[in-house]
Amino acid sequence: MISFSFLFSTEKNMQQQVLDLIDRQLDEWKTVSDNYAALGRVSLRGFNLNERSEVVLQYNPERKRSSGAKMDAESIKARKCFLCSENQPVEQEAIEWEGRYKIQVNPYPIFPSHLTISAMEHTPQSIEGRRIDDMLNLAHELTEFVLFYNGPRCGASAPDHMHFQAGNKGFMPLCDEVMDQSLWTPEHILLSSKEGFLGYTSALGRNLFFIKASERVVASILFAKLQLAMLLASEDYDNEPMQNVLCWCADEDGDYCIVVFPRSKHRPDCYGEDDGQLLVSPASVDMGGVWAVPVEKDYEAITVEQVQAIYDELCMDNAGMVKIIETLIHQD
Ligand SMILES: [Zn+2]
Repeated sequence: MISFSFLFSTEKNMQQQVLDLIDRQLDEWKTVSDNYAALGRVSLRGFNLNERSEVVLQYNPERKRSSGAKMDAESIKARKCFLCSENQPVEQEAIEWEGRYKIQVNPYPIFPSHLTISAMEHTPQSIEGRRIDDMLNLAHELTEFVLFYNGPRCGASAPDHMHFQAGNKGFMPLCDEVMDQSLWTPEHILLSSKEGFLGYTSALGRNLFFIKASERVVASILFAKLQLAMLLASEDYDNEPMQNVLCWCADEDGDYCIVVFPRSKHRPDCYGEDDGQLLVSPASVDMGGVWAVPVEKDYEAITVEQVQAIYDELCMDNAGMVKIIETLIHQD
């Protein structure tokens, strides 16, 4: 007789398949077992950015391949794409999702569980069209993870190959900080209905928009409205608005949550390896409050004032936010 436990074990949900994949890759792929073990030993330094927000520095030399990567079009074209299956190591396994994405363990982690979720085909990094719905559906299936998206000019290490990443919940301080109800007073809510709202805040030390909705379609529509407003406000209609995006389903009520950090700049002026410079190239995870710093002297030297100054330099300033907000409100 077939038992129920047998049925459950053969029809595992996506999240269980992913957790099993992580275990398997840790057992069978030396690069992964070495790098995740090294991550367990990294030094951490935390400080309060302001009274409401925390930032954690992680000394992570393996991330130099990302923070130190040349991002000009020629360098990208000259290298083999590390997300295309034909260029990946034989040990690197994948789980297909809806036949359009492959979910893989990121061999150079920042999170204790770190996934790369890339499109099956080699196609440019973009959040346009149905990508946000893919992100929301993935967040709904991978409830132990926060999904994130780096715009092609905002930290994506493969701007030529569409991909999301995901890391375990409870790691980026901002994801908890943004759930504080006291942030979302009527003057900070831009659009709302009984199924959800879109708001903005600067109280966490960087300007951001937040969407929280009980229905996926409502989260998707609010995101689309924000994207249009950001595009119109940017007056650059040929390029996607510069941004980092976090997306997850809340543990308390299952609501779909999206944080959008509009960006004005890719890398800070202090970027570099010379004296007085810092090899930091902030993207979604840094915006979420965890800075993976690959150079030891930088890790030791960075001050809270520098972190704040870099957020101020890279994120949309208040005048830019006002322009987006006015555009958004006049759309409706
Ligand atoms: Zn590729």
